[in-house]
Amino acid sequence: MSISLTRFMVIGSLAGLSAAPLAAQTPQNARPASDSAVDPIKEMVARLDLEQYKATVKGLTQFGDRRQGTARNRAAVDWIEAQLKSYGCTPTARITYDFQPPPPRPPMTAEQRERARARFAGNRQGPGGSRMRGKVMPTGVNTDSMRQPDLKLRALNTPQSVAGERQEVYCTKVGTTHPEEMYIVSGHMDGIGWGEAANDDGSGTALVMQLARVFSSPDIKTDRSIRFILWNNEETGLNGSRAYVEQREALQGKEDPAGSGKYPEPKWLGVIQHDMMMFDHGMPKADGTMSKVQRPEADVNVEFQSNSKFAAESQKLAWALANSNDKYATDYPAQVGQHMTNTDSQPFQDLVASISVRENERGAQIGAGWDPQWHQPTDLFKTYSDDDFRLGLNAAQTTLGAIAHLTGAKLVK
Ligand SMILES: [Zn+2]
Repeated sequence: MSISLTRFMVIGSLAGLSAAPLAAQTPQNARPASDSAVDPIKEMVARLDLEQYKATVKGLTQFGDRRQGTARNRAAVDWIEAQLKSYGCTPTARITYDFQPPPPRPPMTAEQRERARARFAGNRQGPGGSRMRGKVMPTGVNTDSMRQPDLKLRALNTPQSVAGERQEVYCTKVGTTHPEEMYIVSGHMDGIGWGEAANDDGSGTALVMQLARVFSSPDIKTDRSIRFILWNNEETGLNGSRAYVEQREALQGKEDPAGSGKYPEPKWLGVIQHDMMMFDHGMPKADGTMSKVQRPEADVNVEFQSNSKFAAESQKLAWALANSNDKYATDYPAQVGQHMTNTDSQPFQDLVASISVRENERGAQIGAGWDPQWHQPTDLFKTYSDDDFRLGLNAAQTTLGAIAHLTGAKLVK
C-alpha cells in the first residue's frame, strides 16, 4: 500500500472520532470546520505551555549531563519522580537493573580508519538504512573536560560513571475501560558530553513529563492506559529500555492479583520515543558553519523502521502523529521517515508498533552533523532560543493529540 493512501485512511479515521457533523467537514482535508468549538483534545493540547516546557528543561539541567552511574544521574531520577508525583501521576514506580560497561574498544586498525574516511567521500550511507546528502560534518562524543569553560558545570560533571545498579522511573495513567492495554510515551533522561544535556535529551524528557502533567489532570479520562517512562542508560547502548523489555515483556496484559482489575504491565499497543526535540537549523553550510537561528522550515521528524517486524503497524502510528500535527501543532509541521534508529524505541520495534520523534532524522541529518551541540559541552539551556524550544513544544502538541485520539481521551466536567 502506498504511503499516501495510508495517510488518507488515517485522516479519515481520526476525523471519524471527532464530534463534528460530517456535513461540516471539507472534502479536501476531512477536517471539522469548527473543531475549536467541539474538540476536547484541542483544549487538552492548549494546556501545554512554552514557559512550563522550558522550566522543565531548565530543571533537568541543574544535574549537569546526568551521566548514568553517577550521583547527579540518581538525583535527576529522584527529581523527575518528585515532579511526576506533583502532577498527580501516581503511584510512580522504578525499573531496577544492573549495568556493567563493555570493555573499551581497541583502537581502530588502519583499514577501519580508511573505511571511516571513505564514508565522508561521495554519497554516504547513514545509520538505520539512511542516505546522507550535502555537506557532512564529523560527529562524536566530547570526552575532554577542559572544553567545558563553565568551571561550576565542569566540576559537577567530573565524577565518572561507576558500574552497578541502575534505576529508571515511570508512572501510568490507567484507562477506564481498557486498563489492560497501553501506549508507552518515553524519552531518555541520561546524557553525555560535559554539557547540560539540555537538548539530548532534556528536551524529550521534559516533553514526556509535560504530557504526564496534562494527562494526570483529574478531568481527563482515557479508555486505554498510557505509561510515561524516562529511560536511563540510553547513551551506553539503550540498556535501560532493553532491561525494561527483558523484565516486562512476558507480564503484558496479565491481571495481578487475579480478579483485582489491576494490570501491572498492560499489553503494549505502541511506543513513542522522544529524543532531541529542539534544534533544526538546517544542513551545515559549505564552509561547515551552521545557521544561528531555527530555520523557518523546521519540522518534527517522526520515524519508523522499515526493516522491522512491525513496520506496517509502526508506519500507521507515525501517520497518526503526522495527522495530529496537522490538527494541533501551532507552528511547525511533521514529516514521516522510514529509518528510525539509535534510540530507545529500537528494542521494541520487532514486538510492537514503535516510532521515534525528533528535531531531525537521526540517520541522514543528525548523523551528518545537523546538530553541532550533540554530545558536546555546548548542549546548554542558554544555547537555545524560544524558536528552538517551540519546536519541542510542537512535538509535545503532536504526540499529545495523537495519544489522546488513540486512547479515547475525554474531558469530564
Ligand atoms: Zn538522545
